[in-house]
Amino acid sequence: MQRIYLDANATTPLVPEVLDAMRPWLLESFGNASSVHHYGQQARAAIEKARAQAAALLHCREAEIVFTSGGTESDNMALFGLLAPGDHLITSAIEHHAVLHAAERLRDRGVDVTFLTTPASGALDPAEVRAALRPNTKLISVMMANNETGIIQPVEEIGHIAHEADVWFHTDAVQAGGKLPLDVDAIGCDLMSLSGHKMHAPQGTGILYIRRNTRLEPLFFGGSHERQRRAGTENVAGIVGLGRAAELAAQALASGALNRVAALRDRFEQGILSQIPGTSVNGAGPRVPNTSSLYFSEVEGEALVIALDMKGVAVSGGSACQSGASEPSHVLAGMGYPDSRARSSVRFSLSKLTTEADIDTALALVPEAVERLRAISPVHAGTLG
Ligand code: PLP
Repeated sequence: MQRIYLDANATTPLVPEVLDAMRPWLLESFGNASSVHHYGQQARAAIEKARAQAAALLHCREAEIVFTSGGTESDNMALFGLLAPGDHLITSAIEHHAVLHAAERLRDRGVDVTFLTTPASGALDPAEVRAALRPNTKLISVMMANNETGIIQPVEEIGHIAHEADVWFHTDAVQAGGKLPLDVDAIGCDLMSLSGHKMHAPQGTGILYIRRNTRLEPLFFGGSHERQRRAGTENVAGIVGLGRAAELAAQALASGALNRVAALRDRFEQGILSQIPGTSVNGAGPRVPNTSSLYFSEVEGEALVIALDMKGVAVSGGSACQSGASEPSHVLAGMGYPDSRARSSVRFSLSKLTTEADIDTALALVPEAVERLRAISPVHAGTLG
């Protein structure tokens, strides 16, 4: 069976260029970057090259990059590193669980937390962020792009508000990495999380950008790795792969390769909306180029995910990290959509490896699958054609 992968927001495949960069660090070169001898020096040099590649993608200083085990660790490091009981955090109800659950844990420990919801567009209103400020507000954490809808948040306005109020600003840019230009000064963020596996680097690799003079309590204690900010022997091969992936991401953005992805996504979306009645897009306004979150009325989203998987098309019924759980998407709930809509929604997410032929096949298979599910749906009255 021909398989088509339309779940790039869950994870992306490693590309050959990244594997080629990593290969020596998995085979012949194996030094510990803290060792003083030749092997250690080689590993150190490889990590520092990756740090320069990552800094170039974010337009920051090399010393401001900390390598982590992924987006989850970066988000946790930002929140737990800055907040103490009595502080106030402003975040949103549509954040990834890596931020949401960390914020809930902090709330249990005596941090005040405000979870802002969004209008149906899926984009936060910066005025609400401003209105939520309190004298004890220490941090604002708002994602750059949402993992389910792809909707881009007004991070530059929020960065401005944070700066004016003298409050730290963290942005989870995991779903923006490789899809949108990242410039920490233009955004005005003090911390930014990225994940390697969302941009064709290996799983278990990530970055936390920490602006100079931002003091964080570390999550891990041990050696003095990463300028005392993240103890633990570095994952040299993973970091090298992440550096190369960051370089490729910057090149793809500069070359306009993402326009091709956007055109494919738009063709897919228009095709689905025009062929299948009772279908609409979740959210409105600027989006990352690869994501399409669609509502199919009177269709169980999870059933559609399974039906498509049986035809060889991989998509997601919500955030990948929640698949298997029957709770409706907290993102769509945070946008004010009813549970029924959240349960009837499916996310399609493309990558730079998605082809025209993939989209042609998906455009043939999705309408068929929706029609079949509606035909057996007890609530489908046949009014949708
Ligand atoms: N933040 C967002 C917006 C995500 O989409 C994800 C993963 O889906 C994460 C954080 C967690 O990243 P990781 O899988 O690298 O831990």
